[in-house]
Amino acid sequence: MKNPYLQLFNSQKENQFNIGNTNYKQRIKKLKILKVALEKTYKQDIREALYADFKKPYIETDLTELYLVIKEIKVAISNLKSWMRNKHVGTPLALLGTTSWIKYEPKGVCLIISPWNYPVNLTFCPLVSAIAAGNTVILKPSEMTPNTSRVMAKIVKDVFNENEIALVEGDVEVSKHLLKLPFNHIFFTGSPAVGKIIMEAASKHLASVTLELGGKSPTIVDETANVQTAVKSIVWGKYLNTGQTCIAPDYVLVHESKKEAFIEAFKMTMDNYYSKKPEKSKSFGRVVNEKHFKRLTSYIEAAKEDKAIIHKGGNYNANDNYIEPTLISKIPERNPLLNEEIFGPILPIKTYKNLNEVVSYINSKARPLALYMYSKSKKNTNYVIKNTRSGGTCINSTEIHFINHELPFGGINNSGIGKSHSYFGFKAFSNERAVLKSYWSAPLKVLFPPYTNFKQKV
Ligand code: NAD
Repeated sequence: MKNPYLQLFNSQKENQFNIGNTNYKQRIKKLKILKVALEKTYKQDIREALYADFKKPYIETDLTELYLVIKEIKVAISNLKSWMRNKHVGTPLALLGTTSWIKYEPKGVCLIISPWNYPVNLTFCPLVSAIAAGNTVILKPSEMTPNTSRVMAKIVKDVFNENEIALVEGDVEVSKHLLKLPFNHIFFTGSPAVGKIIMEAASKHLASVTLELGGKSPTIVDETANVQTAVKSIVWGKYLNTGQTCIAPDYVLVHESKKEAFIEAFKMTMDNYYSKKPEKSKSFGRVVNEKHFKRLTSYIEAAKEDKAIIHKGGNYNANDNYIEPTLISKIPERNPLLNEEIFGPILPIKTYKNLNEVVSYINSKARPLALYMYSKSKKNTNYVIKNTRSGGTCINSTEIHFINHELPFGGINNSGIGKSHSYFGFKAFSNERAVLKSYWSAPLKVLFPPYTNFKQKV
């Protein structure tokens, strides 16, 4: 059977040099049109679509979807001229008479596959980098947020020609067809399990990949931490987007001397943020679908069976995939809450006595996308950073490293390969072409045959 996306792919392949040879002014013009579409024309449609998909509060949509894409566009607009400029490099003595530079050229025809949890952000931010770098792109957002995918398809159709940027809606079958095509680069955001499938498919054509994956991000609260301040930011980071955030604190390791204070502060903060009835709170959303609802509630039931202590929450309502923000301790190590990426509003906590335990616990698991540390001790913080690995880290905060465009964003091994955002995103979608121009080849003559005795001495 003919690949249903072959024609689309070929049209982009044919067009790739027209797009690739655009200058920074032409690319900025496109980015500005996309910015207007997101900021004005489709802003309300996007808010409503995300609310229909999983009751995402409008303010969260503005802050965590629209604002971040618009910021990505603004950063690209301000810096594109310098990003695209050839970077001249030095010349070793042996190459006297030559000059060399790095040319940032587009990779070509790119595929962006995105997840449902921040569907606008995670589809359009990589798109901004791909456009900035001069590529043609096929986008495949998640089938789990169909209302949002529909609006994004409309935006893309409205702003771009299909032979430059196209969006195809659909599920895994659509992805599978697309993955058979010889893309030059594949940018995937999603789970580590699917990341492996993407990498395998990419290997068939030796397409380069950027994999933005997930995993269990630890959060440490040590004996010197200001518990009240720590809890305020951990509760925000954990329950934002109903816990469905790749860099959300997945579990907390709290020093045993701070456990009680931590739990008390946590309960109070949850009430302050989401009231005593979070189900009615306008600041708290829903789990995306029944499949994830069932997965998450099975974790709560397993914790109950294991006689873990539920300090707060633990209730749920299948009518609209509601799960109360939940805090659990005394969980046996075999429980899924300590082994699988939670990706929902349930937070397990574990206590520890000394930092060696913390470091060996973290290092016994796959390398995380983020690691957070709340501490007033520079010694403790340095010890943890030096003896662990993670994609990113915040000290005395959660998640906000994501919004500093001067930082690369991405994971390591199981949590991802390659980096994104601003200049790092531009580089992910660019080939750094090494160019050397020779003006005077005399010194190189020593390399040419015949290999005389004299040359051997030189
Ligand atoms: P997912 O891996 O199930 O799906 C992501 C995309 O891949 C979707 O578009 C889906 O249609 C497609 N897909 C699914 N199965 C596929 C298959 N077998 N072959 C080809 N394509 C397939 O992820 P999800 O449930 O949408 O998102 C949650 C995961 O994403 C979590 O693990 C989370 O940590 C991770 N995530 C990572 C980041 C990051 O920036 N690192 C951001 C958000 C989410």
